[in-house]
Amino acid sequence: MNKTHSTLLILAVGAWLLGLWLGPTTGWAIFALGLLLMVLISGHQLQQINRWVRNVHQPPPASVGPWDHILAPIYRQLKQNRLQIHQLKSQVDAIIMAAEALPDGTLTLDEDFRIQWCNQTASAHLGLNLATDRNHPIFHIVRHPEFIHYVQSKKWDDSLLLQNHQPGQQRSLLIHISQYGIGQYILVSRDITQLERLERARKDFVANVSHELRTPLTVLYGFIETLHETSLDELDQAQRQEYLRLMMEQAEHMRALVSDLLTLSALESTPGNEHVPVAVGSVLQQAIQQGQALSQGRHHFHMEIDDGLNIMGAETELSSAFSNLINNAVRYTPKGGKITIYWQQTAAGEALFKVKDSGIGIAPEDIPRLTERFYRADRARSRATGGTGLGLAIAKHVAARHQAHLAIHSELNQGSCFSLRFPAHHVAHTTQLGPTATPID
Ligand code: ADP
Repeated sequence: MNKTHSTLLILAVGAWLLGLWLGPTTGWAIFALGLLLMVLISGHQLQQINRWVRNVHQPPPASVGPWDHILAPIYRQLKQNRLQIHQLKSQVDAIIMAAEALPDGTLTLDEDFRIQWCNQTASAHLGLNLATDRNHPIFHIVRHPEFIHYVQSKKWDDSLLLQNHQPGQQRSLLIHISQYGIGQYILVSRDITQLERLERARKDFVANVSHELRTPLTVLYGFIETLHETSLDELDQAQRQEYLRLMMEQAEHMRALVSDLLTLSALESTPGNEHVPVAVGSVLQQAIQQGQALSQGRHHFHMEIDDGLNIMGAETELSSAFSNLINNAVRYTPKGGKITIYWQQTAAGEALFKVKDSGIGIAPEDIPRLTERFYRADRARSRATGGTGLGLAIAKHVAARHQAHLAIHSELNQGSCFSLRFPAHHVAHTTQLGPTATPID
């Protein structure tokens, strides 16, 4: 029996007893009054419930008589549903955030290929604006015929390579579509512009190396053929010596090329963070000796070197970079020119290496491209002096691995200055240095 039934029963029994005592009219009047009171209370309670229904997020009214039993489980269920909705919303948000964070573009389409949702990467890849493009067919936005054909063909085993040109940028996109659910499609776009560029660079590099090796090989082959076809007594000593000298020159060129290629490959394939204190003074001494040997007394060398200035780095790499820059100064400076080699700490604490020459200089338009592999401003001179076209590419790599900056200043017919600026935190303190440090003459 619920609260209403028991109240009614008490009212009826009370009214009947009072009716026995005071007469049936009074009994019925009290019963009627009691009923009226119950109706009024019920009305008030319904009003409270009505107010609560309009804002079910609040707890139900504290006491609404018999309605308490009905409202409590409803409110419990509401609370539970709210919690579940909140959890589901968090999950959906997390999924959307994960989809947003994907490096690939992701876009969902309905059965008529109308855009339903896309992440920011897809917007950027395909030039979409979800706010205005939602529910529009994808073909209205991406209008490339090959794309439209790919989407409509529904043959999606292979991806589509799409060259997407948009104002200010050109992208190579790999597009793939899959079906999920019923009549739902997901389109994934991957930007492979960088990969394609790398692949192109790799192909160019192989072609360049082949071309660089072919010339000395052809010359070498020509001499070998001549020597093979000519009987020994047909050639005098001087001719033979000249042939051998020219052959050695070509072989030396190929050796230098292969050696530079191996250096570059080592620079690219090793992590380059195993730095130890390097006695730069002695490294420079060797590089200068090599430069002077190459110069054969044709240039005036001037040195401003701080022997005590050492840095953390990789000795062989630094040696290779310094040698390349010093040798270039020799090779591109005519006889009688001046070459200054500078190694000092700057006021800001950086270590600065500079090679300044009074040589042929470089045209401004060539300067930005000098560190490209096989790029030569003066092709004839580079070849004549046995250049491989890789020296500055190596120097730039070494600089990057030491967080240094390679700067080139040059003026045509006036001379050039190549510098490597190592950050202050790369400077090694004398106490860090091993016993290999030897001062330069
Ligand atoms: P190379 O073996 O041809 O010298 P590098 O990579 O060392 O190759 O240099 C690239 C080009 O930069 C050279 O071919 C040359 O044209 C130019 N160059 C480098 N150093 C100098 C310099 N000190 N003076 C003038 N030109 C230079």
